[in-house]
Amino acid sequence: MSDATAGWFDSTEMFIDGTWSRPAATLPLENPSDGTEIGAIARGGAAEIDRAVSAAHTALDGEWGRATAVERGRVLTRIGRLVLERVEDLARLEAQDVGKPLTQARNDAIALARYMEFYGGAADKIMGETIPYMDGYTVYTLREPLGVTAHIVPWNYPMQIIGRSVGAALCMGNATVLKPAEEACLTALAFARIAEEAGLPAGALNVVPGLGEEAGAALSAHPGIDHVSFTGSLPVGKMVQQAAGENVVPVTLELGGKSPQVVFEDADVDAALPFLVNAGIQNAGQTCSASSRILIHRSRFDEVAARMAERYGALRVGPAMLDLEVGPLISARQKQIVEGYLKLGSDLEQLAVGQIVEDAPAGGHYVAPHLLSGATPGHVLEQEEIFGPAQVLLTFDDEDEAVAIANGTGLGLVASVWTGNGARQMRMARKLRAGQVFVNNYGAGGGVELPFGGVGKSGHGREKGFEALYSFSQVKTVAALHG
Ligand code: NAD
Repeated sequence: MSDATAGWFDSTEMFIDGTWSRPAATLPLENPSDGTEIGAIARGGAAEIDRAVSAAHTALDGEWGRATAVERGRVLTRIGRLVLERVEDLARLEAQDVGKPLTQARNDAIALARYMEFYGGAADKIMGETIPYMDGYTVYTLREPLGVTAHIVPWNYPMQIIGRSVGAALCMGNATVLKPAEEACLTALAFARIAEEAGLPAGALNVVPGLGEEAGAALSAHPGIDHVSFTGSLPVGKMVQQAAGENVVPVTLELGGKSPQVVFEDADVDAALPFLVNAGIQNAGQTCSASSRILIHRSRFDEVAARMAERYGALRVGPAMLDLEVGPLISARQKQIVEGYLKLGSDLEQLAVGQIVEDAPAGGHYVAPHLLSGATPGHVLEQEEIFGPAQVLLTFDDEDEAVAIANGTGLGLVASVWTGNGARQMRMARKLRAGQVFVNNYGAGGGVELPFGGVGKSGHGREKGFEALYSFSQVKTVAALHG
């Protein structure tokens, strides 16, 4: 048992078929704020995944499969209420596990509750259609669950990603198998505990922690699954898609980004500043929709760069529980990757660097936020996801150039445009290649109601909002000839 869970659940257990059990092996659990081991988690593998998939099938044949849309909505709503009651506990768990400053972890817990409320309310509002057809026919569509859905989740926003993916799948009546990340799975287990307490029928949600190459690979290749929702890196996403392809099942891939914010000459810089900076440093930059490129019209570049630098200079980095602007990175490995990128950017101008607080534990994975300028399009820091607290500033002279730079990475998750010109807002919203475009704001990570997903190498398929309900269901057409 881990100290971090304070007796709420045993972190070395898995949740399969409504019961808690322990696999033979465990993995160490680290606190990224100081590098200490704070407990252990289950190391599920192929055998446990197999049990979880079969429990999910049994659930579809039983109480969960028979539940009406109203009943599914009620249980999700109850989960949402219980999540809200335990926001502080969930936030503390996540802060310890991910290293996320407490306020940011609290926001994630509230977002998890919102997903449950949203999908609880949506369950009985998804309908089929009647289709005008030939004389003598009545034709209609039924929107049915896919069956058993697999959910492979990363460590950076466990609660939000579980909420959007598992929440939507349960709403449509699927039975789910969740494989949280080995670096951070405590809130996934807490979520299972809450779902159990809310009365979710056994087998509707199964949670199997474990390594990606073991539990994750076994889940994505399992012949008993009917859909895979994968959120994570591009290389693993490709493997997951290939594995699912063998079983001819659909895949939603939510991958990385290099999301730009485009600041035009007429932008309201006072309004933009907090968004420009926060979208880069939130969760220490470990956000798929982090805005790591800021494109600034040449006429405003010096002013915007100076004002961003001022904010960067005031950023403090420290342990999650101190609740500063920036926490540690998730692991020593992630710190090494980010520091490697910063070395690759040593030819760039360092406009400002945040401060790691003096008493930050030496074993924590801290990287000071870096604001960099002078990259030309094509520079490695302009092209590749850093997944750490660093932003690169670029200049442009006109709209076409801004679009070319913004769309020039092959990734396309989120983008934003800052301008008071209404026609330009509309044009840019159409031209920017991204799954979400924000106008005069930026929504890294947020927006339960807003369809979300990538274009290009940022992935395919949409989660969040009503759109996710179409991804987690399929249409059956019924054509009755009655004369
Ligand atoms: P990752 O791909 O290493 O791991 C993600 C999940 O996949 C984990 O649960 C891991 O255990 C599992 N996994 C690893 N190897 C596997 C395998 N062979 N088969 C099946 N599953 C396997 O990614 P990460 O480092 O944890 O997360 C960072 C990446 O995720 C970044 O690129 C980031 O942009 C992306 N991300 C995207 C979104 C989004 O919504 N688009 C959200 C969060 C993170």
